[in-house]
Amino acid sequence: MRFASSLSFGLVSIACCLAACIAASPDDEEILSLEGELLSSDGTMSAELSYQSQWPTGYCANVTVKNASSKASTSWGVAIGLNGATLANSWNARITQSNGTLNATNESYNGSLGAGASTTWGFCANGTGKPSITSVNGNGNGGSTSVSSSSSASSSSSSASSSSSSSTSASSGAGGSGGAGGSGGSGGSGGGPVVNSGLPTPPGPSNVAKPSGAAGGFRVINWAGFTGAVSYTFDDSNSSQIQNYDTLNALDVPFTFYLQTGKTESTNSVWQRALNDGHELGNHTKSHSSNDSGADTDAATQFIESRFGTKVWTMAAPNGASVYSSIARTRFLINRGVANNLIGPNDSTDPFTLPCYIPPTGASTATLDQQVTSARDAKKWRTVLVHGFTGGSDGAYQPVQLQAFVDHVKHSKALGDMWLDSVVNVGAYWRGQKAVSSATSSTSGGATTYTWQLPDHFPPGRYLRVTVNGGTLKQNGVPLSWDPHGYYEVALDAKSVTLSP
Ligand SMILES: [Zn+2]
Repeated sequence: MRFASSLSFGLVSIACCLAACIAASPDDEEILSLEGELLSSDGTMSAELSYQSQWPTGYCANVTVKNASSKASTSWGVAIGLNGATLANSWNARITQSNGTLNATNESYNGSLGAGASTTWGFCANGTGKPSITSVNGNGNGGSTSVSSSSSASSSSSSASSSSSSSTSASSGAGGSGGAGGSGGSGGSGGGPVVNSGLPTPPGPSNVAKPSGAAGGFRVINWAGFTGAVSYTFDDSNSSQIQNYDTLNALDVPFTFYLQTGKTESTNSVWQRALNDGHELGNHTKSHSSNDSGADTDAATQFIESRFGTKVWTMAAPNGASVYSSIARTRFLINRGVANNLIGPNDSTDPFTLPCYIPPTGASTATLDQQVTSARDAKKWRTVLVHGFTGGSDGAYQPVQLQAFVDHVKHSKALGDMWLDSVVNVGAYWRGQKAVSSATSSTSGGATTYTWQLPDHFPPGRYLRVTVNGGTLKQNGVPLSWDPHGYYEVALDAKSVTLSP
């Protein structure tokens, strides 16, 4: 169908779209998740537009502005031709309009972009015309402000037309939930927006009736509709992770690899493949010290972002050292620690010392399974850290047998109701739920509007699944469509939702 999208296709496009794939060749269309990218004529700034959601009469789009130069920039501007559509709202940019062109400039907080850094803003518009970026410019990074050409939105009906959390990762690097087996798209008939949240399809019936009671009862569904969640993480760029990557990838579960970038193993091409396969690349610092001013952490971010063309959203503290809690707080969505515990919806777990289970050397499948079944029983999230597998050449801490781990992951999948996904994917849901659960509400004319703020360093293009007792849910004035798996999907970037009778 027109709006169907493919998560794996979106991820494949990461490698091809780092700098200058301004126009897609026909062969690229099927793997193109971004709808248009433009580079300034001097090559110092780029902008790319990707749909966050689309419906027959409108869309929401994210625009990522990147400083492609080697010098910091101080401000940026992007012009977008709306092609007849009408602006509904925007975020993370200052907007003026003239003659059908939307002119966006940076807010005070996102104008400065270091070399290679990017920021994302977005907007929603009503109308059938497709947007096109007509200019991008920056100041302070040595470039001029002129523009080479325009880039039109792709009109390929078969291409992935909506940028979900995973295809957002293609432009913004979130890692993606590609392997989790979900098509997050909700139903498209009925006139509401067609959402591709990137979240996997939950267990349970697929014919749940739309709530028809009184308007009210707005609430977030825990773990996207799964009973609990598990994130598998791998630290230290160890050789046995590289050697066994194909076996790990074949499990079709998005993992998080925390790279220690000072090791030569971190230059291995397997990590680009991992990213393209839907896994997350996270920061485990450059030197693996128990102390850092922040510089060693930033060096690892720089390495990963420049080498692999992704954005780093989460880190894992070397040795669980406490100094990284404050370092991560100003840089990341999450810092994974090393002390084992479960994480609950809306609980007070510190996202910057996120708990983690580390299996003992040679842990059996049953030992690993027990950690997942206890998370499932508690309806909570557990992260697991495996340093490597028996037989590696670089002395992984507490290695486990590859086959024991593989069998364990298969058991976790076979449970059917556990959400197995990367730290950024589950973590964004967990932290997004907390944000929406503490939303402020206001009532006007019988409609209640919930308004929230997202945490700092929150990946764009993320969604929550919510339900109500009844009524109509709208974002940006557009009714959301009910997914018969039992939920509405709410775009976190919109920062508000309205429930009316
Ligand atoms: Zn480590």
